[in-house]
Amino acid sequence: MTDARADRPHVVIVGGGVAGIEVATSLGRRVGRRVGRSAAVTLADRSLSHVWKPMLHTFAAGTARADRQKVDFFAQARRNGFRFQPGALVAVDRAARRVRLAVEEAEHRPEVEIAYDLLVLAVGSRANDFGTPGVAEHCLTIDDLSEAERFHREVRRRLLAMLDGQRYLEIAIVGGGATGVELAAELKHAIDLLSAYGAPDLPGRLRLALIESGARLLPAFPEHVSRAAAATLSGLGVEIRTGATVTAADAAGFALKDGGRVPAALKVWAAGVKAPDVLAGIDGLERGRAGQLAVGPDLRTTRDPAILALGDCAGLADPGTGRPVPATAQAAHQQARHLARHLGRNLAAGRPDAPLPPFRYREKGAVVSLADFNGWGTLGRYTFGGGRLRGLSARLAHDLLYRQHQLGLLGIPRGLAAWVLDDVDHLISPPVRLD
Ligand SMILES: Cc1cc2nc3c(=O)[nH]c(=O)nc-3n(C[C@H](O)[C@H](O)[C@H](O)COP(=O)(O)OP(=O)(O)OC[C@H]3O[C@@H](n4cnc5c(N)ncnc54)[C@H](O)[C@@H]3O)c2cc1C
Repeated sequence: MTDARADRPHVVIVGGGVAGIEVATSLGRRVGRRVGRSAAVTLADRSLSHVWKPMLHTFAAGTARADRQKVDFFAQARRNGFRFQPGALVAVDRAARRVRLAVEEAEHRPEVEIAYDLLVLAVGSRANDFGTPGVAEHCLTIDDLSEAERFHREVRRRLLAMLDGQRYLEIAIVGGGATGVELAAELKHAIDLLSAYGAPDLPGRLRLALIESGARLLPAFPEHVSRAAAATLSGLGVEIRTGATVTAADAAGFALKDGGRVPAALKVWAAGVKAPDVLAGIDGLERGRAGQLAVGPDLRTTRDPAILALGDCAGLADPGTGRPVPATAQAAHQQARHLARHLGRNLAAGRPDAPLPPFRYREKGAVVSLADFNGWGTLGRYTFGGGRLRGLSARLAHDLLYRQHQLGLLGIPRGLAAWVLDDVDHLISPPVRLD
C-alpha cells in the first residue's frame, strides 16, 4: 500500500489523459516540488504514456506516428514534481479514502492501494454501442492508443492481402460524428498515399462506408458544414448512409433496421460516448445516463466532496446555459486549467478543503478536419474553412489545440523543440506508415 497522507494532503488523480495530465503537471509544479511542499500529488494511469486522444484516428490510419507524440508518465512526473503510479482503477473505498489499482503492465497484475485526501477522477470515456448485438465481438474501437494501433495492424494485414491478389477491402465505420468523419477521411488519405508505393489501383479497391443513425453527418456542426462534409466524402468515394440504424454486427458486416446490410471485413464502432464501467462500481455516487459522475460547478461529485471528476467522465450542466458541458478535449482542457489554478492556490495556502469557484465553460467553437481534403471550424455564429485550401485553416486550428496542450506539458523550450522535430520528421519519413 502506498500512503502519502502522513504530513500533508495527498491529491490522487486517476487518468492521465487530456485533463488528468494537465492537472497533475500543473499541481506538481505549483505545490509538489517546492521546498516544504504543501501537498503530495500522485497521478495513476493504466497506461505508461500519455497521448492526445484527438489524434488517435491519425495513428489508426497510419498518417501519423504515435511514438513521437507520447509523453512518458514517469519522466513527466519526475520533471514536474508529482509521482506516477501505473495501474488501472479497480475500486474506490470512499469510507477509508483509498483507491485500488491493478498494475496491468506488470507480470501477475499486482494490485496496489493508495490513500487519498482528494481524489480527482479523469478516466475519460469510451464509444457506446448501446448493447447492440455482435458489436463487442466483431467491431474495433479506437478509444485508446492500443486500440488505434490494433486497427492499424488490421488495415495493414488486409492491405498486404490486397497486394497478394485479394480484390477489395471493405471497411465500415459506425458514427457520423467528428471521430467517424475524420477517420473515414484519414483512411482515404492513407490509401491514396499508399498507392504511390507500387499499388496504383489501391484507392479504387477500397470500399469505405460511413453509417449514421441521424439525419446528417456532424450533427454538432451547422447544417451547411454537414452537407459540405458529406459532399467531400462522397466525392472521395465514401458511401454515406445517414438515417441508418445498426441493429447488429456479425463477421460479414452490419445489419440495419430497415432490413438492409452493409458488408464489411473491418468494422469500426465510433458512435456514442459512455463513461468507463469501473465508475459504476463506486458506491453511492450519482451518475448520469451515460454513466458520467454527476459533479457540481466546483467539479466535486454531488455526494462526496472528497472526490472530484472532470473531462469526459464528468457530467456537468453548464450553470450559464443549463446545457451539458460537451465531452471534448476543449472542455477537458478548460476544466483542468480551472481546477489546477484554484485547487493549486488552496493547497499552497494549506486549505485543501476551501471552496472552489464555479467552473464556466467557454464555447470556443469546434473544428473538424478531413485529412488534407477539407475542414471547417465554428466560432460562435461563424464558420470558417471549406474548400481544400481554406480547409487547411481548420487543420491548423486542430493542430494548434494540440500544440497548446503539448507546450503546456513540456514547457516552452522542449515543446517548441518537439514541434520542430515533428516538422523535420515530416520531411524525412514517408507520409504514411509502411511498417
Ligand atoms: C478519434 C477521436 C478524435 C477526437 N477528436 C476530437 C477533436 O477533434 N476535438 C475535441 O475537442 N475532442 C476530440 N475528441 C474527444 C477528446 O479526445 C476527449 O473529449 C478528451 O480526450 C477527453 O479528455 P479526458 O481527459 O476526459 O479523457 P482522455 O483524454 O480519454 O484520458 C483518459 C485517461 O484515463 C486513462 N484511463 C482510462 N480508464 C482508466 C482506468 N480504469 N484506470 C486508470 N486510468 C484509466 C486512460 O489511459 C487515459 O490516459 C476525439 C476523440 C476521439 C476518440
